Amino acid sequence: MRSPYFTAEHDAFRLQVRGLLAAETAGAADVWERERHLPRTLWKTLADHELLGLLYSRDDGGTDRDLFTSIVFLEELGRTGYGGLRAAVSVHAYMATHYLATAGSPELRAACLTPAIRGERVAALALTEPGAGSDLSGLSTTASREGDHYVVRGTKSMVSNGTTADFHVIAARTTPVSGGGHSGRTGLSLLVVDAAAPGVTVEPQPTLGWRAAGTARVTYDEVHAPAGHLIGRQDSGFFYLMRGLQLERLAAAALALGGMDRCLEQTLRFTGGRTIFDGPLSGLQAPRHKLADLVTELEAARQLVHHTAWCLQQGALPMTECTMAKLYTTELACRMADTSLQLQGSYGYQDGSEAARVHRDARAATIAAGPSEVMRDIIARDLPGA
Ligand SMILES: Cc1cc2nc3c(=O)[nH]c(=O)nc-3n(C[C@H](O)[C@H](O)[C@H](O)COP(=O)(O)OP(=O)(O)OC[C@H]3O[C@@H](n4cnc5c(N)ncnc54)[C@H](O)[C@@H]3O)c2cc1C
Repeated sequence: MRSPYFTAEHDAFRLQVRGLLAAETAGAADVWERERHLPRTLWKTLADHELLGLLYSRDDGGTDRDLFTSIVFLEELGRTGYGGLRAAVSVHAYMATHYLATAGSPELRAACLTPAIRGERVAALALTEPGAGSDLSGLSTTASREGDHYVVRGTKSMVSNGTTADFHVIAARTTPVSGGGHSGRTGLSLLVVDAAAPGVTVEPQPTLGWRAAGTARVTYDEVHAPAGHLIGRQDSGFFYLMRGLQLERLAAAALALGGMDRCLEQTLRFTGGRTIFDGPLSGLQAPRHKLADLVTELEAARQLVHHTAWCLQQGALPMTECTMAKLYTTELACRMADTSLQLQGSYGYQDGSEAARVHRDARAATIAAGPSEVMRDIIARDLPGA
């Protein structure tokens, strides 16, 4: 039966994106994994197909499509099976640039957002620091206003697209909390730092999975950012983040859905083709029941993600649903990846197998964009009596 959320236009878009991503990744994505970054040409190709500004206004160069068009794109990115690709593209198109689109000045949008939508400038989002990740109130990078610019001092860690980005959207402390300390949610601001600015040092930070995402540690040593690079109001960074992180969680969930569809199909192909004890592996009851459970949970996850997207599209800010969707899909993806690898036995465990890549990539998503424990804390806050 047709989903109430997707139109025939969405279906046609899905087929078009699936074809494009299959063509672009064939034979190339494994090279990106080895080289640990995406090629410049890919950004241009995605932009030429109008895929980097789906949510953004036409005035900024976007296509202003509805949220479900983005859900289709994110699911199809997930469906490629390459976690590094999906992290890099979603950070660029839905995370870093989101803050520019929703709170950036017209000049800043023209300088950063429009070139990002055109695939000419790559964006990164630099929140996490060596000393603070889950707890953003502990961020210690500072941006001090001096005349017509900010001076940025600090280090960011685990920055996806970090090795290739042209600019970073960073969270920095613009006002120390009272008492002179550097902690707390107030006094944080978002601003853009050019990756080529003097004082920016980028060091690759190789990770277990998401290998093509170009993860890096970035140090800002007295880096000058023009005052016009401030996103929105000074000291209101936490407010923007609380809204933006909902989209980030929903995007993570949609990516996980697509990844699970792919993982399931690949597993079924393997179990159907593997002969064991005189019949196909898929004919044994134990794997059949495992897969039946997973496919049931995947369907439940899909309904949660699509319902959450629908709430967001109606103008609500469904914080709990976004959090549940991120928690449930990313943990389910880990269980599915683990079952898939187990069912593929020594074939799955070999270096270079799809099952091995899916396994290590799935693991990243329960940490990035906020670990599962933090998701559970947020959900529990809304429980009656909690
Ligand atoms: C592959 C990858 C890509 C990433 N990309 C980016 C990026 O592009 N930009 C960016 O800014 N950041 C990025 N991150 C960082 C990510 O957002 C942080 O890793 C995450 O927020 C957790 O912070 P932390 O690693 O400092 O862990 P910590 O905050 O130190 O937490 C460590 C562990 O403690 C546990 N824990 C944390 N809080 C609680 C709690 N309340 N209750 C119980 N247990 C808890 C969890 O198990 C958690 O994993 C990325 C991370 C990964 C793994």
